[in-house]
Amino acid sequence: MKKVRVRYAPSPTGLLHIGNARTAIFNYLFARHYQGDFIIRIEDTDIARNVETGEKSQLENLSWLGVDWDESPDKGGPYGPYRQLDRLEYYQKYGQELLEKGFAYKDYKEGSTNYALRFKVPENQVYEFTDLVRGKLSFASEDIEDWIILKENGIPTYNFAVVVDDHLMKITHVLRGEEHITNTPKQIMVYNSFGWEVPLFGHMTLIVNEQRQKLSKRDHSIVQFISQYRDLGYLPEALFNFITLLGWSPAINQEILSKAEVIELFEASRLSKSPSMFDQDKLKFINHTYLKNLTLEEFIKLIKPFLVAEKISIEDEKWLTDFASLLQDRCEFGAQIVELYNEFFTEDFMIEKKALDFLKEQENVLKTIKHFSKLLAETDFSPKMIFEAIKQTGKQLNVRGKNLYMPARIATTGLMHGPELPKMLALIGRDEVLERIAKTIKLLEDL
Ligand code: GLU
Repeated sequence: MKKVRVRYAPSPTGLLHIGNARTAIFNYLFARHYQGDFIIRIEDTDIARNVETGEKSQLENLSWLGVDWDESPDKGGPYGPYRQLDRLEYYQKYGQELLEKGFAYKDYKEGSTNYALRFKVPENQVYEFTDLVRGKLSFASEDIEDWIILKENGIPTYNFAVVVDDHLMKITHVLRGEEHITNTPKQIMVYNSFGWEVPLFGHMTLIVNEQRQKLSKRDHSIVQFISQYRDLGYLPEALFNFITLLGWSPAINQEILSKAEVIELFEASRLSKSPSMFDQDKLKFINHTYLKNLTLEEFIKLIKPFLVAEKISIEDEKWLTDFASLLQDRCEFGAQIVELYNEFFTEDFMIEKKALDFLKEQENVLKTIKHFSKLLAETDFSPKMIFEAIKQTGKQLNVRGKNLYMPARIATTGLMHGPELPKMLALIGRDEVLERIAKTIKLLEDL
């Protein structure tokens, strides 16, 4: 088999979108699985849409995801240059060749001596190819109009430049989004007119939202740019893992897979034909799974900037370590640490309704809470001693189970569920805890 060479060919028109990241990742996986080359080529011929930082930020976010490549504008390589605007001479040369051979003609703008080159679509042809994802596809030439390959200003159009480049760069497989299926016959006719070998094509399915509609960049209910996930404290390994499952599935029944495992398992035959749903809960779940596996040190490093940005004091290192170890299990992504902090540590103490109802329905609840408060006031405020205070309250008043733990939890946190109570109370600190209990007592007495 010829050495596999695949490419990701972004237009630098904005931030790295989840769909583009998927295209890049699938090409990357394909190259690495078959020990081939992975090339990045910048398709910047739509000058009006180019954004100055587009290329840089896209590549930087790809690297962040753990993708690396063999040839690109920044790395160079034997088939450069790798930006289309630096390759105009090639398009001129090959455009000229098509003109001379009668495959293209001059198209003059009215009243001007400038002309564009238009490709002459052959008559009565059928363009057939076997798509790696969708199988046999065919298009009739009468459905395709003559189309411009080189504009008056010497800039090529996408369908022409892509063929010249893929040929010169010795691309063997073209894996890209479904929206390019109808471009493929145009590209095949260019290959044919030069007598060039046509690469294999594979068109990946649409990504749809939970309502089964095509993911639109304007849909703000879904975070769609990689940099946004990065800013929210998602882990690159988790995002990479999630993206690999958008339209591909491994032959084994396992979804949490490292990059090395996916490279090993990646086969084009397992690319899915049906649209892949962007399942936000699944992404959270995968990220949560990776996050729980971080070392405490790594987790602290992840959450620190979010705490600092919220001006939450983290100077006390022991406090921070205990806080992080208490919440690591619950935190689904970095930024969520602020929500968790607010939920459990905020000073605006309030009892949620169902917790209050629970207290109201219990006999002797005031007595339990008061006793607990008294023991807490006297004890050393360590998790161990706080635990002891709960236990002693139970023993001395002869209450146990839910009737003991719930009042203790609700009176100090306002909630019926949460992280380990003794550890959490130690972190909140004695003064605040006693104040909360006093508020609870007052509330119950005023009923
Ligand atoms: N520049 C095109 C895009 O961003 C690349 C299409 C292709 O891979 O052929 O959609």
